Amino acid sequence: ERARLARLRHTPAVTLDGEKVALHANIELPADATAAIDAGATGVGLFRSEFLFMNREGELPDEEEQFLAYRAAVEAMRGLPVTIRTVDVGADKPLDRMSASELRHEHVLNPAMGLRAIRWSLSEPSMFRQQLRAIYRASAFGKVRVLIPMVAHLGEMRQIQESLKKVQQQLTDAGRAFTKVDLGVMIEIPAAALMLPLLLPYVDFVSIGTNDLIQYTLAIDRADEAVAHLYDPWHPAVLHLLATTIAQARAADKSVSVCGEMAGDPLFTDLLLAMGLRSFSMHPSQIPSVKQRVLRADASRLARLLPDLAASEDPQAAVEAAFSAVRRNH
Ligand code: PEP
Ligand code: MG
Repeated sequence: ERARLARLRHTPAVTLDGEKVALHANIELPADATAAIDAGATGVGLFRSEFLFMNREGELPDEEEQFLAYRAAVEAMRGLPVTIRTVDVGADKPLDRMSASELRHEHVLNPAMGLRAIRWSLSEPSMFRQQLRAIYRASAFGKVRVLIPMVAHLGEMRQIQESLKKVQQQLTDAGRAFTKVDLGVMIEIPAAALMLPLLLPYVDFVSIGTNDLIQYTLAIDRADEAVAHLYDPWHPAVLHLLATTIAQARAADKSVSVCGEMAGDPLFTDLLLAMGLRSFSMHPSQIPSVKQRVLRADASRLARLLPDLAASEDPQAAVEAAFSAVRRNH
C-alpha cells in the first residue's frame, strides 16, 4: 500500500470526468517544503508564517530573516505557487515575547475572539508592513501569494490595501525587485462567508479555514476537550457556509480552496468536489490518500447529488449512501 501511494506522487490529480484538482501542502517552516514536494504537492496552499515567530527566546524575526525564510520556501518549491499567510498569532498560538499591544491585552477572557491574526497585525502596522515587504521581496524568486487570516470587516480590507500600496512604494523606492503577488483572505469567520460578495472585489482568491470556521459557526472552542464531541464538520450550517462560499467564489471567477483539516480528510473529498471545490491544501502526508479519492471521483455526478444532501438531517449518512453508490458504479 505504501509503495502504491508513493507511485501516486507523479500522477496528476484529475477526476474520472477530467476535472483537474490542485492538491497543495500546508507547511509551517521552509524545511517542510521538501516533504511537500516528496508528497507530490503542486504548490503550498498555506505557509503558517507564525511558526517563524513562535518559540523564540529573543527578538522576533526582522524583515531580512523573514525574507530569507520565504525565499527558501519559494526556491524549494521550484516555481510552484507558495501561499504565505501573514502571522496568525494570539489565541492558541501565543508569542513568547509579547508586543506592547499584546501586553495591554494580556488578561483577555476569550483569546479566540480577541486580538489575533489580522487584528494583531493591524494593531502593529510597522510589523505588518515589515512582513509584507519580506513576502513581496520573495516574489522575485518564484510565484508568491499572500493570504490574510481571520478577516471579518471590510474596513480591514481597506487597511490591508493601504499597507500593500505603501509597501510596494517603499520597495520601489529602495530599488527592491518584486513581482505581482495575488492577495487572498481566509474565510474562517461566518461573517466573512455571509458577506462574501462584498469581500470578493478586494481579493484575487479565497481560502476556507474550516478549523476556525467550524469553531466560530458552532461556538465550539476547537481546543476545549469538554465540547469536542460537538465540534462537527458535518453540521448542516457548516456545510451550508462551505457550499455557498465555494459557489459564490466560482461564480465571481475567483479561485477558492479549503486549507483546514477537512481538505486533508478523504472522508470529505467527494463532498467538497460535489460542491465545486477544485483546490485543496493539507498536511503533505494526506496528499496521496486524497489524490486516490480524486482519481476515483466523478465530479459532475457527485454535483448532481448535492441538492438532496443539503436538505438532509443527517448529511454524513446521506453523503455516504449517495456517494458510495456512485463509486460502486465505476
Ligand atoms: C483553519 O482555521 O482552518 C486554518 C487552516 O488555520 P489554522 O488551523 O492555522 O487556524
Ligand atoms: Mg485558522
